[in-house]
Amino acid sequence: MTQNWTVPFTNFKRQYENYKNHFDETFSRIMSTGSFILRDDVSIFEESISKFLNVKHTIGVNSGSDALILAVKAHGIKPGDEVITVGHTYIMTLSAIVASGGIPVLVDIDNDFNIDVNQIEENISKKTKAILPVHINGRMAQMEKIVEIAQKYDLCIIEDSAQGLGAKLNNLNPGNYNSTGCFSLHPMKNLNCAGDGGFITTDNDDLAETFRLLRNHGQRNKYDYANYGLSSRLDTLQAALINVKFNDFPKSLEKRRSLANLYIQELKDLPIILPVFESKNDHYDVYSSFVIRTNKQQELLNYLRKNLIEVFVHLGPTSIPELKNLEFKVNKRLVNTEKISKEVLSLPLYQDLTHEEVLIVCNQIKRFFN
Ligand SMILES: *Cc1c(COP(=O)(O)O)cnc(C)c1O
Repeated sequence: MTQNWTVPFTNFKRQYENYKNHFDETFSRIMSTGSFILRDDVSIFEESISKFLNVKHTIGVNSGSDALILAVKAHGIKPGDEVITVGHTYIMTLSAIVASGGIPVLVDIDNDFNIDVNQIEENISKKTKAILPVHINGRMAQMEKIVEIAQKYDLCIIEDSAQGLGAKLNNLNPGNYNSTGCFSLHPMKNLNCAGDGGFITTDNDDLAETFRLLRNHGQRNKYDYANYGLSSRLDTLQAALINVKFNDFPKSLEKRRSLANLYIQELKDLPIILPVFESKNDHYDVYSSFVIRTNKQQELLNYLRKNLIEVFVHLGPTSIPELKNLEFKVNKRLVNTEKISKEVLSLPLYQDLTHEEVLIVCNQIKRFFN
């Protein structure tokens, strides 16, 4: 069902119009050569990302989900092993752990929606093998503290950076912590392809080799298989589309941040909780989602949609820890996770959104509260 939103939640048509000639040229080049699997465009993509994120290896895969599944597998998570993560995340973070037989141990979140690092240690047991923080909404988790705990207990770190590309903490990127970074290129993420795509980053040569094998059936050479792998390659076509616009990515991040800042200026006097806006060096947030908190979640959702502003409640109103049929471990009630999931509301924010459109959204929100 398509609706004529005054401000839609996404606008891929606008993005296409901006790059139309280059996208069309790329499409016809690849279609006419018929080179679809792991060709130069993928290597070029991987090199650009490695440079951008200051990591040794980038391995293109077919989704953020497979990036996580391969990372958990490559780090040797076995049935019964526990992995520390959060419940305020997309379900796939947990699915990836469970896919290897691991048990997600959910820790509560802080008011910036990321893992509360002060509650990690009390959740560590003899079975704990890894910490899997999620950089939610384009804001990095407190990685220094996570690294400190991981070293103390000899745990590996896998970062769910599906929403964290471009975010920084003290000038370090996700994946810069002797960790494995897992990223998504899904249309809803801040660097998107035309469907599913993702990638893994690591500085470790052996892990990188494992990832290259795992994404491609374990195939070393024709008819020589190192292990049982998966079919998880990033398509040449998707890599090529990203290559077209990758130079503009830093600019698009700045655009997102300026739109987020405008939302914050316009909404700061209303009875809602706004995401933090850091202009200091320590956190460079990229607002892969712009999420406000209100105790009138459903009323505001309905009001804005009725007024043709497309908004969503993502990661709510039911939080993952409340889903009793799913497999995970919670050592104590996740009060903040449950509370926040009943308050969150995602507003439109993407690089092709205009300042005028942000003002339209803000005016409707002001009308609701007045
Ligand atoms: C989108 C997302 C994923 C999954 O990525 P896909 O590319 O859609 O498979 C995993 N974790 C988080 C936090 C996400 O936002």
